[in-house]
Amino acid sequence: MDNSSGPLSVYKGSQMSQPHKTAEIDYAQVSFDADGTPESSGFGDIYFHRAQGIAESSYVFLEQNRLRDRFYTWATHRPFVIAETGFGTGLNCLLAAALFLDVAPANARLHIVSVEAYPLTPSDLQHALAIASALAPQLQPLVQQLLSAYPPPIRGTHRIHLHDRVTLDLMLGDVLDCFPEWSQDNRNSVDAWFLDGFAPQKNPQMWQPQLYRAIARSLRVHGTLATFTATGHVRRGLQNVGMQMHKVPGFGSKRDMLVGSMQRIGDPEPDTELTHIAIIGNGIAGANLAWSLRHFPGDMTIIGEQEPASGASGNPQGAVYPLLQANWTPTSAFYSSAFVYARQRYLSLTPEYSHFQGLIDYVSNTKQYPRLRKMKNIAGYPKALFTARTAAQLAQHTKVPIGLAGGHHPLAGWIEPAATVNALLQCTIRFRQQQGRVTHTCFQHQVTRVSRAGQQWAIEYEHHPALTVSHVVIANGERVPELLPQTTIPIRPVRGQITRVRASHSSLSGLSQVLCRGGYVVPALDGAVCIGATFDKSRADAKLLDTDHDKNIEMLHEQFGISCTRTDVIDGRASVRATTPDHLPVAGALQQGDDASGCWQPLPNIYLLSGLGARGLTSAPLAAELIASRILQQPAPIARHLQESLCPMRFAKRAQVKGLSPFSVR
Ligand SMILES: Cc1cc2nc3c(=O)[nH]c(=O)nc-3n(C[C@H](O)[C@H](O)[C@H](O)COP(=O)(O)OP(=O)(O)OC[C@H]3O[C@@H](n4cnc5c(N)ncnc54)[C@H](O)[C@@H]3O)c2cc1C
Repeated sequence: MDNSSGPLSVYKGSQMSQPHKTAEIDYAQVSFDADGTPESSGFGDIYFHRAQGIAESSYVFLEQNRLRDRFYTWATHRPFVIAETGFGTGLNCLLAAALFLDVAPANARLHIVSVEAYPLTPSDLQHALAIASALAPQLQPLVQQLLSAYPPPIRGTHRIHLHDRVTLDLMLGDVLDCFPEWSQDNRNSVDAWFLDGFAPQKNPQMWQPQLYRAIARSLRVHGTLATFTATGHVRRGLQNVGMQMHKVPGFGSKRDMLVGSMQRIGDPEPDTELTHIAIIGNGIAGANLAWSLRHFPGDMTIIGEQEPASGASGNPQGAVYPLLQANWTPTSAFYSSAFVYARQRYLSLTPEYSHFQGLIDYVSNTKQYPRLRKMKNIAGYPKALFTARTAAQLAQHTKVPIGLAGGHHPLAGWIEPAATVNALLQCTIRFRQQQGRVTHTCFQHQVTRVSRAGQQWAIEYEHHPALTVSHVVIANGERVPELLPQTTIPIRPVRGQITRVRASHSSLSGLSQVLCRGGYVVPALDGAVCIGATFDKSRADAKLLDTDHDKNIEMLHEQFGISCTRTDVIDGRASVRATTPDHLPVAGALQQGDDASGCWQPLPNIYLLSGLGARGLTSAPLAAELIASRILQQPAPIARHLQESLCPMRFAKRAQVKGLSPFSVR
């Protein structure tokens, strides 16, 4: 906030560009004065004044955007959307969320998007918010949620559910890197802007025409904006992009501040009726979709050929950790955010089946040491996500003597996939029941065809009457080609088998972390350790094979030096993964290519989530949020360029760019 005309100033982080992008974002340097007021050591400015900070935030951003009245009358299925520059301590967002929960109708939802270049450390945030919530006790539950879901300092968007009806997308990065791209994806979608951050005189990099254009692009017609500053070039910059701006009295001793509204004629609101959604597939993808779509206002039907978790998601145990490359690539970025989100979702919704005590990913041999160094020095993953460790350091974490270096993922671990799928489905059904919404489960129903029927989609079954729905998401794992025979999506089946062995072996009995090295060992559950998994591209069946048990036993010996025999085997399970050539899921709207123009248009209200490969437990929750956000008309949880990386049609589009037929990728 502007300190130029009064005693108060709030620094919410500089938005200076960084030449080299690494995964890790620098934390803000914060100190607390004798009074307890949080202050940026780097800039010598305070975040909020202990005595007046709450009143100032409420006046500048809540009152001047007229949020109380607008929240009170919010009766739309889509959420009310707030965008903010400068998350800082999160005080503005928390105050807006608390007001919303106080006055908005019981079914209404709020979506906040905020950007921060230099986030506070978790302990500084806790300290600062303890002060704020002591003064405003209504913030306490929201503060608890924020602190428990606060992400490690990883560049990118992190979705946090502050309350079941309040979602926060916290974008960590430079405001000019984040909002221009975000606004391309979210045109005409913001109801109120909080233009906060370091004052224009101190942070001129942020207050740029590029930001004003992004604001104008994203604001709805009659959407509003408030900012603490009254600086002339800010007012003119916003007027130049079509906003009506005027001065109002500032807070306390500050003379003026600016408020504005967007008056241009906007795109018409989409008038899609959300009457009935079908989710085809009842594995981890289908179950996460069901939960992400729990606010769908019409009926929901979840369909599976067999009982839930009968396919690849039916294993008793599975590892949850991100796929990190040596450089900070879109793949690394997607999996980093997906991992943080998945962990949070499993711990909050299905804690009894979630075990996050760490994971060690050993190198195969010493030739991989340069890659490990690159991950540390070039990609620059934050310690909470990944740390390169020497063999001696890793030896302290486990009794299994590998004698090699590797990566330690302290926040990673494992879940019980089959139990998690069932629990997520139950959570969804219960939640929707409480909201008075109908959820049907059609298990033992094999879908044979999905086709357009007028303005609807017809779902045809093998032995049951067809179902007609407004929306459909196909999430049937490796069997996508059966339902989409004409598409250009290269889903490849890869069979895998896990083996459960007695945990009595001395190296296995005390194992608390997952070990990975050309296979994995998951700590004991009910006296059995899960080892695996085979990776067989030549077969696509789920028959349990003794020869595959032998392969897993061999892997355990070769990779981890642990000897077992067939007599140690308790049981196992085989199923089929749906893999893609680039190791990323396919998640998004189905699109139709036009041969003449070469353009792709989304097909109405049909989406796909598959290709989860060997990391489906990590990627499914965020990929499901992406699809649900599109259907429920709210901002997406990942940047536009990452959405392109997951687009189901990306392979065909890439072929087209190379002058090849889109069908050459099948
Ligand atoms: C041996 C093995 C070990 C693995 N280990 C891990 C691990 O440690 N960590 C990890 O993250 N991932 C792991 N994976 C991958 C992970 O299990 C998958 O990515 C994930 O389960 C895929 O989930 P899904 O919901 O897309 O597919 P599935 O779980 O296969 O679900 C698809 C569902 O669709 C249903 N269906 C199919 N066709 C139709 C139809 N026509 N009509 C109605 N229903 C239909 C099926 O019955 C099935 O239940 C492993 C996979 C295997 C095989």
